[in-house]
Amino acid sequence: MAEAENRPTNFITNIIDADLASGKHGGTHTRFPPEPNGYLHIGHAKSICLNFGIARDYQGLCNLRFDDTNPEKEDLDYVNSIKEDVQWLGFNWDGEICYSSNYFDKLYEYAVELINKGLAYVCFLSPEQAREYRGTLTEPGKNSPHRDTSPEENLALFEKMKNGEFKEGECVLRAKIDMASSFMVLRDPIIYRIRFAHHHQTGDKWCIYPMYDFTHCISDALEGITHSLCTLEFQDNRRLYDWVLDNISLECHPQQIEFSRLNLEYTVMSKRKLNDLVVNGQVEGWDDPRMPTIAGLRRRGYTPASIREFCKRIGITKQDNMVEMGMLEACIRDDLNENAPRAMAVLDPVKIVIENFDAEQVEMLDAPNHPTLDMGSRQLPFTREIYIERDDFRVEANKKFKRLVLGKEVRLRNAYVIKAERIEEDDAGNITTIYCTYDADTLGKNPADGRKVKGVIHWVSASHCIDAEVRQYDRLFNVPNPAAAEDFATTLNPESLEIIANAKLEPSLADAAPEQGFQFERLGYYCRDNKRDTLTFNQTVGLRDSWAKIENA
Ligand code: ATP
Ligand code: MG
Repeated sequence: MAEAENRPTNFITNIIDADLASGKHGGTHTRFPPEPNGYLHIGHAKSICLNFGIARDYQGLCNLRFDDTNPEKEDLDYVNSIKEDVQWLGFNWDGEICYSSNYFDKLYEYAVELINKGLAYVCFLSPEQAREYRGTLTEPGKNSPHRDTSPEENLALFEKMKNGEFKEGECVLRAKIDMASSFMVLRDPIIYRIRFAHHHQTGDKWCIYPMYDFTHCISDALEGITHSLCTLEFQDNRRLYDWVLDNISLECHPQQIEFSRLNLEYTVMSKRKLNDLVVNGQVEGWDDPRMPTIAGLRRRGYTPASIREFCKRIGITKQDNMVEMGMLEACIRDDLNENAPRAMAVLDPVKIVIENFDAEQVEMLDAPNHPTLDMGSRQLPFTREIYIERDDFRVEANKKFKRLVLGKEVRLRNAYVIKAERIEEDDAGNITTIYCTYDADTLGKNPADGRKVKGVIHWVSASHCIDAEVRQYDRLFNVPNPAAAEDFATTLNPESLEIIANAKLEPSLADAAPEQGFQFERLGYYCRDNKRDTLTFNQTVGLRDSWAKIENA
C-alpha cells in the first residue's frame, strides 16, 4: 500500500519509537480486539487503521482477536462480518484468528492463582447490596462480609461456581484490591460471573465467564502484545489492567495506551444503538447505506482507500471531539473524482424531441470516461428523442441560468448544441415535451459563426436508455449529536431515503458491477448496489459539500 511511504506520526508512534530505540521492545505487536456483538463501524476503522497500520509501518505483527466474553450478545454472523470488513479495508491479521475464549482454561487458572494468593474471593452480595457496598465517587466503599473467606474455602466455592452448583447471579468472583480506592474499578471488581449461556466458540463447556477487564489484559499478555491500544474510556481500567498482570505469574506486561474515539456528526456509533435501528426496522439492516458501518459505507460506494484516508486525516490524539460528516465525504469525493468513470443519468426526466434529427437514425457518439485521465471511452446512442432533467429547462430565465431556456441554445454533454423551439404542456400546465432543433455542425466544436453557447447539460437517449432505481440519501439523523438526545430514535431524519423508481440511465450502465462507482455527470457519485438483483444505484455523495450548498443557477 502506498500509505506506508508516508507513515503517520502521533503520540503513540512517539512512544513506540522510544521503546524501539531504548530496546524495551525489538518490534511491535498490536491487536484489534472487537467484541462480536454487532457489525464494525467507522469508529472501528480508526482502531483498525491504527493497529494494523502500526504493524504495516513497523514491519510488526497485528492480531485479530475476538473479545468474546458475553455469549448472550454475540453471534457467529458478527464474527464473519468482522473478518470480512477487516480484509475489505485492506488489512490482514497475522497468524490464526484469536478468541479470548481460547484462553478460558488459562484464565480460570489465573483466577485460581489469585485466589491462592488471597487476592480473589467468591462474594454472595446481591447486586443491590454490592452497589451499596461499592460507595460513591466521594465516599469510600465497605468491605464485603465475604472478603476474608480463606483461600481454601474460596477455591472450593469457585470450583462449585464452575460446576454449575450455584444459580446465575447467586455469587461472583471478585478481585481483592481496595474498597477505598479513588478508582472505582479497583473497588474489588468482579472478575468472573455465572451465565448459563451457550457460547458460539466454546458451546456449553462453561457456565462461568470472565469479565472484560480480567480477560483483556491476560489475552494481550498471552499473545505477547507490546502496545495495547484502546479508547479513552478505558483510562481508569488501566489500573486494573496493570494490577492483574502484576499479580499473576505471566512475564509479558503490555503497555495500555488510550486514544480518543471517533465521534461523527449526524450519526451514532454505539453498536447497541445501531442494533436498535436494525431490530426496530428503522434501517434495512446493518449494511443499509445510511449506516456508519463498514458494510453500509461499502454498499454506499465508499472505497477502502477513502476510509483509510479519512482515518489518516483525523489522526490519533487524546482529545475527544466530534468530526464533521463533511470530512468523511471529502475523502470519498476526492477518491471518486479521480478514479470513477463518468456516466450520464437523468433522475427527473422530461422529453425532448429534436425535430430536425431523423426518427430512424441512431448516431453512436464517442464519450471519454474521464475528463483528464485516460480511462478509455464508451459509445452513447444519440437519437431524435432524448431525456434531460426537468430542472434543466426554463421557459424564461435570467443570464445566470446556464441551462436550456425556451428560444435559446445549450450544449448536450458529449454531443451537439440544441435550441428549444416550443413546448407542449398537459392540462395541469406541466411540460410534457420540449421540441428542439440541433446544430449538426457542433459535435466537438463551437458553432461556426462564433455564437457563444455557455451551458452544458446531460441527457440520455429516450429509446436506448435503461430504467433503474436510484436511491438518494440524506443524513440518517436530524441533529449533529443524536446520542445526546433522551431517545436518539426521535432524532431520526424521516427523509433520509428517497427512492427514484424510474431513473433513465445511459445503456453502458447496465454492465456496472456491484459496488462499482461512477460520477453521474452534474449529479454526484453513485455506485451499483451490491445486494439487489434489479438494477439499483446508491448515491454515494454529491459533487460538492451539500452542507455548504452553492446556489447552482
Ligand atoms: P461500541 O460502543 O460501538 O460497541 P466498543 O468499544 O464496545 O464499541 P469493541 O468491539 O469492543 O466495541 O471495539 C473494538 C475496538 O475498537 C476497541 O479497541 C475499541 O476501543 C475500538 N473502538 C470502538 N469504537 C471506536 C471509536 N468510535 N473510535 C475509535 N475506536 C473505537
Ligand atoms: Mg465493547
